Amino acid sequence: MSQSADVIVIGAGIIGGACADALAARGLQVTVIEQDAIGSGATAAGMGHLVAMDDNAEELALSSWSIRLWNEFVDEHPHSHEYSRCGTIWVASDEEELAAAQAKGSNMRAHGLQCELLDARALYEREPALRPGLAGGLLVGGDGLVYPPKSARILLDRARSRGAQLVAGAVAAIEDRAVLLRDGSRLHADSIVLAAGARCTELLPALPLQAKKGHLAITDRYPGFIRHQLVELGYIKSAHAASGDSVAFNLQPRPTGQILIGSSRQFNASLDAEPAMLSRMLRHAASFVPQLAGLNVLRCWTGLRAASPDGLPLIGPWPARRGLWLATGHEGLGITTSLATAQLLAAQMTDGSVPIPLQPYLPQRFMLAPSNHV
Ligand SMILES: Cc1cc2nc3c(=O)[nH]c(=O)nc-3n(C[C@H](O)[C@H](O)[C@H](O)COP(=O)(O)OP(=O)(O)OC[C@H]3O[C@@H](n4cnc5c(N)ncnc54)[C@H](O)[C@@H]3O)c2cc1C
Repeated sequence: MSQSADVIVIGAGIIGGACADALAARGLQVTVIEQDAIGSGATAAGMGHLVAMDDNAEELALSSWSIRLWNEFVDEHPHSHEYSRCGTIWVASDEEELAAAQAKGSNMRAHGLQCELLDARALYEREPALRPGLAGGLLVGGDGLVYPPKSARILLDRARSRGAQLVAGAVAAIEDRAVLLRDGSRLHADSIVLAAGARCTELLPALPLQAKKGHLAITDRYPGFIRHQLVELGYIKSAHAASGDSVAFNLQPRPTGQILIGSSRQFNASLDAEPAMLSRMLRHAASFVPQLAGLNVLRCWTGLRAASPDGLPLIGPWPARRGLWLATGHEGLGITTSLATAQLLAAQMTDGSVPIPLQPYLPQRFMLAPSNHV
């Protein structure tokens, strides 16, 4: 193994894997350092929903571009990613939410996404298990899902086939163009990419990131129980609440026939599963799909999302330290936006060009006084 590389990537989650792959594709000598198994952090905990989100123009630009990149990527080996182009139905409970669905559809269509507004009859034709009395929904046909740890592994394998090296170890400190590992060894590189998810603040405490915990549960196999990823339109309000605990109806048909049930949000860095939060989440899901209450749940778990103050990721140089680059803060959308993140980062590091403006994601937007941010 070489002790010096062009770039060191800290973390082999979906973001580190995608960045390593994109940088190696540009001919850089990349070393990835991972303290645990590949894709074992938030990447293993996430739902793997590839979803175009439009809370703001920047989020929609990044997520819709990234979904296009995913479509090309998974087309090579869809089964290896456990990919399904299931589409998303944003479920509208009442006329007010249906109006919101209509506006959402117009916005998404303007970005080239394929959307269909569903009245109540069309909604129940597609998803008969939903509770009666809903107003309709918006079907976004290009959304899909993957099994994220497998996709992270595929990205890492491709990076390695392009010359990247993987080092098993824990980074204890980021230094000037080097990292110190917990075993006392040191690796050097011109550039260091911090892609350690919710753990980034352990290495760079000045980062304005907070851990947002989420619970998920998965059932036994019930093929055909639902066909699309189902998300309540109210999700948008709860997902971006600045404080407080929330649950939202978010149901996914895994290609195995299992049903993945989400999701919750809490500002909490402990990974302990909390029965009260789980039960609140499951009861809420069953209020949308009553037959869920009769299904057998096999497993529940939690994960930590790295949340930034404005909800957008941090992609680019961290001006307070020479040679340090960030690819983090993806909150609940990092699987979706991983591939575009990697392209944005690699383009900045190699003077390349990208099809969307990169300014909204630059970490420097959170720099107040440089002396506070080393
Ligand atoms: C419950 C839940 C549901 C989600 N659902 C979705 C979804 O449906 N769609 C979507 O797009 N996104 C979803 N997300 C968000 C998504 O999972 C994350 O944004 C994404 O996985 C972040 O990837 P990452 O590589 O930045 O972080 P991680 O996957 O956490 O990877 C970071 C890696 O860095 C390693 N590391 C950390 N510190 C060090 C160190 N000091 N030295 C060496 N290695 C280190 C860790 O071991 C880890 O492997 C969800 C998240 C959660 C928690």
